[in-house]
Amino acid sequence: MKILVVNDDGIHSRGIASLAKALEEIAEVFVVAPLTEQSAVGHSITMKIPLRVHRYYKGDEFFGYAVEGTPADCVKMGIRNILKYNPDLVVSGINNGSNAAINLIYSGTVSAAREAAIMNIPSFAVSVDSHNVDDFTYAGKVAKKFAELVAKEGLPKGTLLNINVPDLPESEIKGIKVTRQSMTRWDDSYEERIDPYGRKYYWLQGTMQEEEGEDSSYDYFAVKEGYVSVTPVHFDLTDFGAYEKYKNWNF
Ligand code: MN
Repeated sequence: MKILVVNDDGIHSRGIASLAKALEEIAEVFVVAPLTEQSAVGHSITMKIPLRVHRYYKGDEFFGYAVEGTPADCVKMGIRNILKYNPDLVVSGINNGSNAAINLIYSGTVSAAREAAIMNIPSFAVSVDSHNVDDFTYAGKVAKKFAELVAKEGLPKGTLLNINVPDLPESEIKGIKVTRQSMTRWDDSYEERIDPYGRKYYWLQGTMQEEEGEDSSYDYFAVKEGYVSVTPVHFDLTDFGAYEKYKNWNF
């Protein structure tokens, strides 16, 4: 099995090192990741400036290719110009920070997996629910488990998995749950600050506004309750309810 490993936290991050290490137990792993952190860039791609690629070493050992671009760029570049063939699987992560609920929309980590799904390659994203993860070992085990599962069972065309892991010791994990996306979203605003030259600047801050009436069958609440959340996601954004309603309108 050949696996392309990508992320949005950047090629230097600990999460991608743990992911590559876990997957190397079962596959040949190729790392193509952003040179600098690209969290929350969503599915953006580089079109108007050159895309440069560097060989990235840890000490004397080659680790992967660093792209001066976005997570989606890394998937395209990795498959089209570096591997030059389709890998069996694309795995994105392991991200520092949850990509449950509305975060899925902003996530570079999930977007990399989604880019692979657009290219018709099975893929999933793995994130840990903390911005200061101490130990990625368990999330790495989850990634390995799902790599084996997806290799065996495949995924429906156009479907990727968004996997979110609680930041807990393995012994405290309650289990793995298939979930749907929570409608929990950010209540955010820009805090106004003053730079050393007396000029104003702004910094985004916010808190999660939990959607009422949802339980652990939704990704955000499953993770909060100690479950590994696995949400099947697709990129067909059609609202089929509205489609049924509007298609018979007489325009
Ligand atoms: Mn990130």
